[in-house]
Amino acid sequence: MKIAVVGIGVAGAYLMNRLSDAHDNHVVGFERLPEIQHDAVCAWATCKNVMSGLVKNCGLNFEEYILHSGKHMKVNLGSIGSKNGKDDDNNNIDIRLKGMVSYDKLKLIQDMMKGTKIEFGKIPKKENLESEFDIIIDSTGFHRNYLPKLENDTWIPCIQYKVKYDIGKTPFDDFYLKAFPSMTGYFWYFPLGNGYAHIGAGDFERKKNNKFVDEFLNRHKCQVVKKVGRPVRITPPVNCEPFTDGRKSIGVGESIGTVYSLLGEGIIPATWCAELFIQHLDDIKSYRKAVLKRFKIYKLVFKFIQLKIAGKFNMIRHVYDLLRIYNHMKSEEDRYGMQVKMINMMKVSRI
Ligand SMILES: Cc1cc2nc3c(=O)[nH]c(=O)nc-3n(C[C@H](O)[C@H](O)[C@H](O)COP(=O)(O)OP(=O)(O)OC[C@H]3O[C@@H](n4cnc5c(N)ncnc54)[C@H](O)[C@@H]3O)c2cc1C
Repeated sequence: MKIAVVGIGVAGAYLMNRLSDAHDNHVVGFERLPEIQHDAVCAWATCKNVMSGLVKNCGLNFEEYILHSGKHMKVNLGSIGSKNGKDDDNNNIDIRLKGMVSYDKLKLIQDMMKGTKIEFGKIPKKENLESEFDIIIDSTGFHRNYLPKLENDTWIPCIQYKVKYDIGKTPFDDFYLKAFPSMTGYFWYFPLGNGYAHIGAGDFERKKNNKFVDEFLNRHKCQVVKKVGRPVRITPPVNCEPFTDGRKSIGVGESIGTVYSLLGEGIIPATWCAELFIQHLDDIKSYRKAVLKRFKIYKLVFKFIQLKIAGKFNMIRHVYDLLRIYNHMKSEEDRYGMQVKMINMMKVSRI
């Protein structure tokens, strides 16, 4: 089978590694960025309990990519700029972490794609791909260039800095979040080891996040290594249909909405999606079914976020939904890499 993998991010790299292994496939990857600029725009946090197995499928050892192993995550719930123009730094909860890490996402992508055939710096034309390949995988993430445009797409604009502090002078030793009001988004500080960190914010109400990040950088002076901006899609898979264009293109990963919107987490879901694709390679209908089944809860979580953002969440009417989300996460603490408590969930959700 001749397969084009367009977009070499988390899903694309996993697919290149696993599909190129099968000797009866002819697989070519395409990445729009030149090889030297190839990047993995993301805060690089994930759960090692799940990633270890997925990375092992590619013949690699996840432990070698870990930059920082989290023990606790401080989540600040204080107001922004209300007390004499200062943020409220006292209203915090502490979440015990059980496998949450930051890792070198770019290095892992590079190692997954080693020995495979990839054309960099190229956005291939769909008609050219169609004449050459049997299957075109759209793993372009947010872009979704090779699939029908979505009518009701929701995304969170994000900005992020990679920064460097002098050793011993970092503002935090471990993962830190500041939740914005009404669950419109959050600010993050994720350590990357040796004084490096990703600092960023995603906020549905775009303006606030830039301001908060700028103020943080002013308060905690550091060397800025890189600045990036990219939206993250939070529309769940069920609302990202069709997964195919009805011809040769088929979506895998964030292009079809595999992001857990409560956390803005897309690494594990995109990799799972890629694995589902491999398992159902010869039957697109069963791939669709498997994706909808695996990511069923994402619709409910997305609804919850939408209600909170719109200020329409009603504890009496929506309590059952909240309980289902809590039960899901509580029963999968190892998968999410953190201890899940109802009281914390309610505090973060401002309920
Ligand atoms: C600022 C930010 C921080 C995040 N932090 C986290 C986090 O800490 N943990 C987590 O789990 N998730 C995080 N996410 C979400 C996560 O990064 C994504 O959901 C995940 O990477 C999606 O994987 P993917 O392979 O589907 O797409 P991507 O990783 O986005 O890869 C898509 C690739 O396709 C390429 N491409 C795009 N268009 C074309 C084209 N037309 N032709 C060729 N190539 C193309 C891109 O250059 C890119 O390399 C974050 C997202 C953002 C925006």
